Amino acid sequence: MPFCRLPWSATAGPVAALLAALAISTALPLHAQQPVAFTPAGEVFSLKLPAGEGGGRAGATEANGTVQFIGTATVLIRYQGFTILTDPNFLHKGDHVHLGYGITSERLTNPAIDFDKLPPIDLVVLSHMHEDHFDKLVQDKLARNTPIVTTKEASESLKKLGFTRSYGLGKWDQVEVEKGEARLRITAVPGRHGKAGMQALLPSVMGSVLDFGQGKGAPDYRMYISGDTLVYDDLKTIPQRFPGIDLALLHLGGTRIMGVFKVTMDGKDGVQLMQIIHPQRTIPIHYNDYDVFKSPLADFAKEVKAAGLEQQVTYLAHGETYTFTPRKR
Ligand SMILES: [Zn+2]
Repeated sequence: MPFCRLPWSATAGPVAALLAALAISTALPLHAQQPVAFTPAGEVFSLKLPAGEGGGRAGATEANGTVQFIGTATVLIRYQGFTILTDPNFLHKGDHVHLGYGITSERLTNPAIDFDKLPPIDLVVLSHMHEDHFDKLVQDKLARNTPIVTTKEASESLKKLGFTRSYGLGKWDQVEVEKGEARLRITAVPGRHGKAGMQALLPSVMGSVLDFGQGKGAPDYRMYISGDTLVYDDLKTIPQRFPGIDLALLHLGGTRIMGVFKVTMDGKDGVQLMQIIHPQRTIPIHYNDYDVFKSPLADFAKEVKAAGLEQQVTYLAHGETYTFTPRKR
């Protein structure tokens, strides 16, 4: 038996305690686990926002939060006084985006809100630099001093476009955000746009975990945004570092480049990622906005039903809002 060969020190004292702790944590289903404070594994940046900026409400004591789906991967998240915009895409039906290498795609939907009608934004979380996530209109109109939390690669592109407050994150790097009493920690987590061999052709992508509240302690609410990723082994490290995810926003669509190469999750992949991450609730986004999206939302709904996960999914049409109340810790 291999265990017999372990040195004594591995079966008693701190190592044994660690093994026991691991046994306990793996015995609990992940969705039943409580979020725990995260010890940073990467670089930590800090962002201080003026308390009154961004049209935020009362702040840290707020009971409910909202996620409004605008279209593509664009959502407006409002909680604890923060107003966060993700992957801003405000082009209209019939407009085209360039995805590199001469590949273009036509938008098939309208954003639920026009860019000019947005409330004041505290910061943008950008998963990667593709025009269906940060389009030409946004490149022109977004205030140059808007804080943008993104990949290192996208941050360099943003600097060239004149944006002065981008935070380029590598895997597990994080930004600690303060706004008055309110606290938010954003961590870059693994994501990969396409299979391993296609890396050189596609922009680097980050998933992100947004931990709201309480500074260094366990968060009040933990949100995960997948970014444009396929399912691969590294994603399993996300729930290990961030157990107890309350809400997952999954970028689906089964995007096909040149009609062949899959570069975002289809319905089946989305369910697979749910089974890896074990979020309390999942909202699919990025599913019908461009003609390169080949896996309709119905694919995901069918897989969700087959997996018996219907109770854990909320479907939002463009413009709809999901309101959440953090569970009691
Ligand atoms: Zn995309």
